[in-house]
Amino acid sequence: DTVTVTVGLGERAYDILIGKGLIAGAGARIAARLPGARAAIVTDENVAARHLAPLQASLRAAGIDSTTVTLAPGERSKGFETLEQTVDALLGARLERRDAVIALGGGVVGDLAGFAAGIVRRGMQFVQVPTSLLAQVDSSVGGKTGINTPRGKNLVGVFHQPRLVLADTGVLDTLPEREFRAGYAEVAKYGLIDQPDFFAWLEANWREVFSGGPARTQAIARSCRAKAEIVERDEREAGERALLNLGHTFGHALEAATGYDSARLVHGEAVAIGMAMAHRFSARMNLASPDDAERVEAHLRAVGLPTRLEQVPGALPGAAALLSYIAQDKKVSRGSLTFILTRGIGRAFIARDVPASQVLAFLEECR
Ligand code: NAD
Ligand code: ZN
Repeated sequence: DTVTVTVGLGERAYDILIGKGLIAGAGARIAARLPGARAAIVTDENVAARHLAPLQASLRAAGIDSTTVTLAPGERSKGFETLEQTVDALLGARLERRDAVIALGGGVVGDLAGFAAGIVRRGMQFVQVPTSLLAQVDSSVGGKTGINTPRGKNLVGVFHQPRLVLADTGVLDTLPEREFRAGYAEVAKYGLIDQPDFFAWLEANWREVFSGGPARTQAIARSCRAKAEIVERDEREAGERALLNLGHTFGHALEAATGYDSARLVHGEAVAIGMAMAHRFSARMNLASPDDAERVEAHLRAVGLPTRLEQVPGALPGAAALLSYIAQDKKVSRGSLTFILTRGIGRAFIARDVPASQVLAFLEECR
């Protein structure tokens, strides 16, 4: 029961395959698309301990010669130092442009490996084998790659689309529950952006998405298709792709305000609070009905995600300080705030020139 979602980008179109047990047949699928290619697997220690051997075996069985780069897990690995190590490993293995960099891991591994693939020999073949829910529904789709610098997250990178994405839903069984839940925030996000029927379906089926039945594959496929449609219309984020930032303006401010301390808040949790806030703020501005905001909050709460500032452990700065984190976020242009707001569930839109005074008043009410 493998589902295929095609990302239609002309001659760079590629398939995302979603299904249980895909890693076992990964070698054959890669060999079919990239005949004669050799490969380097980039992964992290957590993922390597659980899922590397089956991938290596399937490459071997398909006659693909491979080498492996294993990184320390965590966001710190997404920097210049690990990039340099990875680039050196690819060059040291004498891989060519036609050879494949295979990212086996979450978004950290995918972003770093994709960037290395994008710049080594001016662009090697790239294959994603995402192993976190966030990576399967978000970071492996759309071609954004890159690293962090001390000046901020994701500030250095390139657009480099993969040739193939293999999302093995079975590997999610070893993902820590908290990481799964955080990834689910991005799943719900697609419903809230422009797929109200998907959001209603999630309200009815989320338990099976969590427990790993066929609904999990369906939810991931539906999410990939939702993101692919937006990316197809606006690959380089000239406009509409910004809708994918629903919940992220408030969310990024919370991540910054908690010092990116994953013990306090992981990205998806910040996005869950941010999405609930974006809906409440939209209701406050008389754009959306308070009932919709309540429905969003109820669903996120049901799956165990936070929706309120008071749920963030430890002290948070005041409303004015939170606003300054928002104003430092990159979605600000010329003093006016750009937000993704909504007219209701599945009706998000890009709102430019949102008055900072309104945001401040709202933040004061939230605290
Ligand atoms: P991550 O890669 O750090 O993975 C989360 C944790 O889960 C890590 O400890 C990892 O080792 C572990 N893990 C992953 N798969 C596992 C599995 N199957 N079993 C057990 N443990 C597993 O984080 P993430 O949440 O996957 O990704 C976050 C990153 O993605 C951020 O750097 C973010 O900037 C990036 N991102 C990129 C895009 C994009 O479009 N490129 C979009 C969204 C997020
Ligand atoms: Zn996100």
